[in-house]
Amino acid sequence: MSAFDTATRLVYLAAAAGFVLGLHLMNSPATARRGNQLSAAAMAVAVLVTGAVLIHDDSITAVGVVVLLAGAAFGGAVGLYAARGVAMTAMPQLVSLFNAVGGAAAALLAVNDLTDGTSAGTSVAVTAALDILIGTVTFTGSLIAAGKLQGWIPSQPLVFPGARALTGVLAAGFLGGGCWLVAAPGDRVALVLLVLCGLGFGVTMVLPIGGADMPVVISLLNAFTGTAVAMAGFVLANPVLIIAGALVGASGTILTKLMADAMNRSIPSIIVGGFGTGDAPSVGTSRDAHVREVSADDVAIQLAYASKVMFVPGYGLAAAQAQHQLAELGQLLEARGIEVSYAIHPVAGRMPGHMNVLLAEANVPYPQLQEMDEANPEFARTDVALVVGANDVTNPVARRPGNPISGMPILDVDQARAVVVIKRSMGHGYAGIDNELYADPRTGMLFADARRGITELTAAVKTLVG
Ligand code: NDP
Repeated sequence: MSAFDTATRLVYLAAAAGFVLGLHLMNSPATARRGNQLSAAAMAVAVLVTGAVLIHDDSITAVGVVVLLAGAAFGGAVGLYAARGVAMTAMPQLVSLFNAVGGAAAALLAVNDLTDGTSAGTSVAVTAALDILIGTVTFTGSLIAAGKLQGWIPSQPLVFPGARALTGVLAAGFLGGGCWLVAAPGDRVALVLLVLCGLGFGVTMVLPIGGADMPVVISLLNAFTGTAVAMAGFVLANPVLIIAGALVGASGTILTKLMADAMNRSIPSIIVGGFGTGDAPSVGTSRDAHVREVSADDVAIQLAYASKVMFVPGYGLAAAQAQHQLAELGQLLEARGIEVSYAIHPVAGRMPGHMNVLLAEANVPYPQLQEMDEANPEFARTDVALVVGANDVTNPVARRPGNPISGMPILDVDQARAVVVIKRSMGHGYAGIDNELYADPRTGMLFADARRGITELTAAVKTLVG
């Protein structure tokens, strides 16, 4: 092995170590930013070294270099612009689009490898076929998931007659196409069959999945992207691609399992064709059921004389960008000697960890954030549970069968001595069902935009009780 080869392998190894360390640092919100920076730096080094290898091996033409630089500049600029400009509430759609692009890129690498005229061996053909399959499923599946989250496609489960049969036919098609491609690498008909069936399967896999289950799907598709990239690494014999892809695939799979457990869903049922469809379109409190409306002044007095207050943030907090106001209210109550904590549901908001990110941005001390398992036993000794823009994650109907969120673990807000819900109307949450909590006699509804409602509350606490 030449000195150049040894040096590049060592740099690749260092980059891979950077990915692993970066992932490790992401374990805690306090070090997550550094973890992200380390991983990004390691990836930049890996990309630069790959460029150096291409030039050193003389395996790229001058035109190739120009195309590569132009592609990297364009892709980098679009990625930077999208990531910096995206609203926090639209982050899951962006992640989904990035998954789609990653899957497509991995699949295109394998298509190129099989069609570039050099005959691929059987082992390369197997990984190339897997890469194309996973990459194409990820591409269309992620586009459908992004469309559902953005509201371009209805978030309800979309099931049409014969959908399951079509999914079965597509699965048979890609299995057949894949085997054919392995037997005859480069065969165009087999390649087209595999690509079309993979693209179709991505659509039929995600369409029947309801919006409330979308976090699991995004996480699963993220794991698929990583796996496709690892396969592309085998096709190109590039170790750093294999390691990076395997890390994304493994961590995405673990996250998917954790998310599925948090929502009481099973991963196989996602893949075989839709879940979360529920039996009844609407359950619980009707829109005009009697609810008790309260004013900011009423709530301020309740809060100021409580011993223990639990904030329950949800999507509405993110939509109103009210995290700073909530943190300020928390500090004010703490200064009065009240115990304040935040109950965090794993799928509150629109992406995993959404509430943690928002509250970290508002400098809420980490020890005050309580994950669901930690928070639930606390509700029984909570004087006031202040629900801010959360809906589905507090809905007691999840404890009963026969509705779209049946079995999803919820925050046991209804166990608190008093509940106050800040939201703008009796509008539904993501799952599109009524919330029984609102009709509970212990619940008061403070109808307001979260930011305005909390600002009024803070002002009322200051003026009414000093
Ligand atoms: P929900 O989507 O259930 O409810 C949010 C509530 O916020 C709505 O009922 C809405 O009521 C209220 N709201 C909206 N805007 C404002 C505002 N400006 N001020 C005050 N309130 C507002 O949110 P949850 O966090 O409780 O649950 C998350 C849901 O999203 C779950 O069903 C989950 O499965 C799903 N999901 C989660 C993802 C994740 O990874 N976390 C990803 C995709 C989906 P109103 O209009 O009356 O104000």
